[in-house]
Amino acid sequence: MLAVHQAADGGLARVRVPGGLLSVTQLDVLRSASLDLGDGRLELTSRGNVQIRALRPDGPRELSDRLFQAGLLPSLTHERVRNILASPLSGLDSRYDVLPVATALDRALCARPGLAELPGRFLFALDNGSGDLVASGADVLVQAIDSREALLSLGTRSVRVDWSSSVEVMLAVASAFLEVRDSAEWRIAEVADGSERILERLGLQATDELPTAGAPVEAGPHGPALAVTVPLGSLTPEQALMLAEVAEWVRVTPWRSVVLPTVATEPLEAVGLITTPDSIWNGVTACAGRPGCAKALADVRGDAQRIVPELVRDGRRVHWSGCERRCGKPAGGFVDILAVGNGYLVDGAVKEKW
Ligand code: SF4
Repeated sequence: MLAVHQAADGGLARVRVPGGLLSVTQLDVLRSASLDLGDGRLELTSRGNVQIRALRPDGPRELSDRLFQAGLLPSLTHERVRNILASPLSGLDSRYDVLPVATALDRALCARPGLAELPGRFLFALDNGSGDLVASGADVLVQAIDSREALLSLGTRSVRVDWSSSVEVMLAVASAFLEVRDSAEWRIAEVADGSERILERLGLQATDELPTAGAPVEAGPHGPALAVTVPLGSLTPEQALMLAEVAEWVRVTPWRSVVLPTVATEPLEAVGLITTPDSIWNGVTACAGRPGCAKALADVRGDAQRIVPELVRDGRRVHWSGCERRCGKPAGGFVDILAVGNGYLVDGAVKEKW
């Protein structure tokens, strides 16, 4: 069965979606599974995965069966380690299409028994050259240079690789990481001189060449595709049904949004989805908060919906946290809204009015 975490509101299942790719059938399987077995919502994570919360006690087995039949659970042994991001506009713009590489990496990863030992936090990212995944914090980032070559980066150390060998090199890096880490180290960045030691172990000559950074895909049209922000990354049953009705496929992004083929925006806006870059919801995120997390000091999502218009002021992203762990916080600078039991701190200052 799919491993399920016990949260304060019941079972919490994380469904890995390598490359973010979901067929409309798979989206509908997730939607109906959450309605039948969980709280009805689909949460989009900062790793482009989907979570179902509040699973009833007999939910995990039934959910596993449904996911397996939909092709969403190809490997029980490797489910936890199938953490693969791909640029969401891959194949939809003029850059190199990294999605086939993401699919090949997923298959090859699942076929290596030893790599089931990777920590669940270990992350691969395939950037199509747009730079949108450079800030993803991936352990292994591969960025397209052209149709022949890519830059493979482990933190600040990089090597150039041919696409034809890229999957093998990524897996070799993962294997080498398992050899150099100790049991308390979950990411390459946590291992002293980890990048250098791994590349040296593989006989690869590291350079200081850095990947080119770019911006995340913002809500709105992008050539033949439309990016749609999901407020607080939580798809309601109505919103998931609408997506399943209008799109043939969706791609889950790491920015609490989805990319889908171009469709009319009015039906999406009518159910509360965001299709323009100027909405205040594009930059707002929140952790689970109450009632889902036992550590939470507030219902941060409920409060975010009530208070958000006041906050959007200087272009920074806004993140609401139910406690100091700040789960799901965005990379880079953000307005830090922290529950402290009797209210909130906003960037460290007490917000009395709330
Ligand atoms: S930040 Fe705290 S309250 Fe929010 S989900 Fe994480 S542990 Fe729970």
